[in-house]
Amino acid sequence: MKDVVVIGGSLAGLMNAIVLKELGYHVHVLERSNIEALQSEAAGIRSGPEVHSFIERYVKNYLNYAITVETVEIWNEKSEVLSTFPPTTPLRLTTWKALYDMFKSVLLDSGTDQSPAKYETRQLVQDVQYEGNKLSVKYRDLDNEVTKTLEADLVIAADGANSAVRNMFSQSSSPKYAGYVTWRGRVPEGAVDTKTREALRNRCVVLRVDGGYLISYYVPADTGDRQGSRCDFVWIWYDYDRFPEDSSDFHEIMTDVDGRKHFTTIPRGRMQPKVWRSILDRKSVVSNPHFVELLEKTKEPFVSAIRDFPGSKAVFCDGKLLLVGDALALCRPHGGGSTSQAAFQALELGKVWEGARALDLWEKDCLEGASKAQTISLAMGEFFFAGKAPTVVRNTVESDSQ
Ligand SMILES: Cc1cc2nc3c(=O)[nH]c(=O)nc-3n(C[C@H](O)[C@H](O)[C@H](O)COP(=O)(O)OP(=O)(O)OC[C@H]3O[C@@H](n4cnc5c(N)ncnc54)[C@H](O)[C@@H]3O)c2cc1C
Repeated sequence: MKDVVVIGGSLAGLMNAIVLKELGYHVHVLERSNIEALQSEAAGIRSGPEVHSFIERYVKNYLNYAITVETVEIWNEKSEVLSTFPPTTPLRLTTWKALYDMFKSVLLDSGTDQSPAKYETRQLVQDVQYEGNKLSVKYRDLDNEVTKTLEADLVIAADGANSAVRNMFSQSSSPKYAGYVTWRGRVPEGAVDTKTREALRNRCVVLRVDGGYLISYYVPADTGDRQGSRCDFVWIWYDYDRFPEDSSDFHEIMTDVDGRKHFTTIPRGRMQPKVWRSILDRKSVVSNPHFVELLEKTKEPFVSAIRDFPGSKAVFCDGKLLLVGDALALCRPHGGGSTSQAAFQALELGKVWEGARALDLWEKDCLEGASKAQTISLAMGEFFFAGKAPTVVRNTVESDSQ
């Protein structure tokens, strides 16, 4: 039996761990944060077709984990539909925690013939060495400061966009700030006025505003109970062009209540109150009463700086160390494609381990998929923001007509 260490226990790490466990590997997942810390950065997520395929293949008797909508509606301030954006497949909208809980319970399910997997939190991986055909993974237990080492035949690095493992093995680029942030929040549907509830329920709505756009969608509450008022509205405000990276505003936004600067996300409830007040002061820009209510009813807003980078290499150490998920490539979130990429990679990797696919072709497909996801994401962002055909479409039409 082969020993696999998965570094990073979020969605990409869990999906790859499940695939390998099902194939009989002995899997050990090392995750730096505890579940509370993970949850404090989580909100709504799109379960794209690849994620749903993964669930159909690996999660037995899965429950209704998402709310499905057929179109994205683009509204004006009076909630009139200006246009609709038909996705190629219905959108499944859920929460990061719903996927995380589902995948983790599949991984740790001991009711099968496979050897049980191990999932440990508060384990910070610090070093990976490749010697004599084996990898050794050095990590620190953050609860007792003890440093340990695991030997592995295969290491899956799913340690996210700031991947320390990628930095150890590759000179490739790291995530660059895209020049704007998203304000984010989540409101239980029972907390809003009936009119807002009726207007936004079961919908995915985009509202263009001066200098950006907002999106609202409806997700099952993390209890998994869809009865009564047990769904939530998730909203995201893409706030373009206001916060250059070297500005004092950006520094203040990304510094939490304890004075700690964050690279990507200030977790829920940790944003400085004055920063959130300054956003509420701008609510007149939002103009639509339902969206204004969502902002006002948000108890624990959070903020993310948008970053991206193109992946360049996934396979290292003679095929024994692989980068997956956001560690491999990071696209902007407009299309909600990151988790779909991670699911695609895990599904295809299953074929590699079954001997039905070559690893170099897997790498090629993953890099092409990441590049396509970034193109789609940029196009969707441009369309939602500007309301015109995205540059990528205009360029294609122009080059076709020449
Ligand atoms: C806590 C959390 C909440 C999220 N919530 C949302 C959401 O609500 N909506 C959405 O669209 N996307 C969300 N995302 C992003 C989404 O999960 C990813 O874009 C996508 O699923 C790809 O996931 P990933 O596993 O590659 O990367 P990530 O989800 O970023 O996971 C990387 C994991 O690696 C761990 N890690 C990093 N360094 C180390 C180390 N040295 N040792 C051990 N572990 C390490 C991190 O703690 C993290 O859990 C969230 C990510 C995280 C981590």
